[in-house]
Amino acid sequence: MGAQLEREKIKDRTIRGKATRIASGRLPQGTGRTGTAYGYRYDKATGRRNIEPSEAVVITELFELCATGLSTYKLAERLNQVELPSPLGAKWHPRTVLNILRNPIYMGVTYFNRRQRVHVSGKRHTYVDRPQSEWAVIDGATPAIVDADLFRTVQAPLDQPLVRPVPEYTRYLLSGFLRCACGGPACGHELQRNSKYRYYRCINTVPRTNRPRTCDAKGIRVSVLESRAWAEVCEVIQDPETVLTELRSKHGATTALDEEIVRGQATIKTLAAQKQRAMRLFTIAEADDSDVKRELARINKLHLQARSRLAELEGRRAVSAQFEPMAEKVKEYCTLIRDRLDQLTFDQKREVLEVLPAESRSKKTDSYESCSCFQVPTKYAFY
Ligand SMILES: [Zn+2]
Repeated sequence: MGAQLEREKIKDRTIRGKATRIASGRLPQGTGRTGTAYGYRYDKATGRRNIEPSEAVVITELFELCATGLSTYKLAERLNQVELPSPLGAKWHPRTVLNILRNPIYMGVTYFNRRQRVHVSGKRHTYVDRPQSEWAVIDGATPAIVDADLFRTVQAPLDQPLVRPVPEYTRYLLSGFLRCACGGPACGHELQRNSKYRYYRCINTVPRTNRPRTCDAKGIRVSVLESRAWAEVCEVIQDPETVLTELRSKHGATTALDEEIVRGQATIKTLAAQKQRAMRLFTIAEADDSDVKRELARINKLHLQARSRLAELEGRRAVSAQFEPMAEKVKEYCTLIRDRLDQLTFDQKREVLEVLPAESRSKKTDSYESCSCFQVPTKYAFY
């Protein structure tokens, strides 16, 4: 009890002591390293910070360079290049630079009670901002090194998340559309970055950590395969009917499907009637029980089969129904781009490949084999 009271007294005295110092424009004691901020020296006699010219030069430069658009990463890199020691005598880290650029003391504003120590776990703590209404300003405790306008100019860009440029990868026209004879997809590959020697190769020809190399197909030069493939695409597009025939045979004609659906429905009806008859037989037990049971099981099985078949047909019917209105568009599309096939951009070419059904893309032969540039026959087909 006595110790508790003593602690309260000390706390009270400390708070009052701090308040007096703040009111008179002096930095309160016990606020961590605030007194020794980079760019300043703490003057014990006045309780205020004085500018340290040798460090203030660095502060000014950081703010000015940041305003020109240099990132904290670049700024830290520059300081390390001239081998200037960081505030703690080590290398500059982008985070150190960021902390400086964010600190309002450099425009002459000293806050007290701004941050709060928060327990994380074990012996770890972190600091978070208190609500701004609780902050206290200590007038005149720190002289400004940069002017308030410059300080505010650099704050907004610092809030932006760091955007790293995405490296440009070589794109391959046929990637996603090629399959090797072994079944594996064939992907674009270059021997070196931005090399002119580029190939399509089967992914199974490359050993991976979880599976060995299982295919020995040779790669095909990108220029050879692409020009052949595109020539075929062009040929197909000259004749949209081929494309449509392919699409139709894949999805089935609507009328034929309709007839099949009607037949399927009739079968189900017949089976249901048979089932009822068998059930009746079972209840009046005119026939041998086991015979009726067997017959019932047979009908049940047929019934189930017929129903799943009908569901499948109806599914295909729905797809076909969507297809027929699309057919006109396919035709239009073909005629529209027929004369401009050579002027298409890479992305437009990819689009053409995506809309064409696989079978019509390569109608003469379904594979590219024995390319003249390779001794070993290589088979790559569209899919
Ligand atoms: Zn292969």
